[in-house]
Amino acid sequence: MTSLILIGPPGAGKGTQATLIAERYSIPHISTGAIFRANLAEGTELGVEAQKYMERGEYVPDSLTNSMVGNRLAQPDTANGFLLDGYPRTLAQVDELDAILADLGKTLDAVVEITADVEEVTQRLLARAAKEGRADDTEDVIRRRMVVYAEQTEPIIAVYTERGLVRKADGMGTIDEVHARIVAVLGG
Ligand code: AMP
Repeated sequence: MTSLILIGPPGAGKGTQATLIAERYSIPHISTGAIFRANLAEGTELGVEAQKYMERGEYVPDSLTNSMVGNRLAQPDTANGFLLDGYPRTLAQVDELDAILADLGKTLDAVVEITADVEEVTQRLLARAAKEGRADDTEDVIRRRMVVYAEQTEPIIAVYTERGLVRKADGMGTIDEVHARIVAVLGG
């Protein structure tokens, strides 16, 4: 049973690492950002609403996010674990996730924190923006996402540290190097 949260600043390589970890442990990769982007691509009401926040680098309101995660975690493919990427992002979402997991009779095994230097990841995101053209990757928006991360998401690491769940992995280096560090902190 491998039930994990992956956390780290925007641009730390979370999405890429999440894909590799999910493959390695055969668990579904649940990315709230990816679900919002898929909804936007399909033109759903949720996607259109979420975009108003994403394009400014702000967090989508919990009223839209929490139920989406609750529904996803209730799917049968999470029976042997899951990897949450991009959720929880606020202290309120930590409480909500606790309630969702309690409801479903699930527990968390670890919170993997990918650590990275803010200026370096900002530069990475600018490079990615040029390549992929994501609407939330302009310089102003990237800087805003960093501030929002520091203010709203970093505090949740302390909560999970207190619970003894946090495993840190240095996010600087190649994809393979970072992946190996994550596998090592998870015990192989
Ligand atoms: P990500 O792909 O994880 O970087 O997410 C992209 C954007 O989606 C974020 O900047 C937020 O606007 C929104 N988003 C993703 N996950 C959440 C969440 N858990 N709570 C609020 N907003 C989120």
